[in-house]
Amino acid sequence: MVRCSFCENVIKPATGKMYVKKDGKILYFCTNKCEKNMLKLKRKPSAQRWTKAAAAKKGGKK
Ligand SMILES: [Zn+2]
Repeated sequence: MVRCSFCENVIKPATGKMYVKKDGKILYFCTNKCEKNMLKLKRKPSAQRWTKAAAAKKGGKK
């Protein structure tokens, strides 16, 4: 099972994107949104309200 490197959502097989960085690190993205936030905008997942990392920080409250 592959999880998005940014929002930590599960990526179904044959969907999403695999991105290999120059240093050999492999990142997985479920959507272009996640790819853009991570690579272009260099945002932290925990700073984004819509990621699981942020939800966990809040204590799972919704
Ligand atoms: Zn994602």
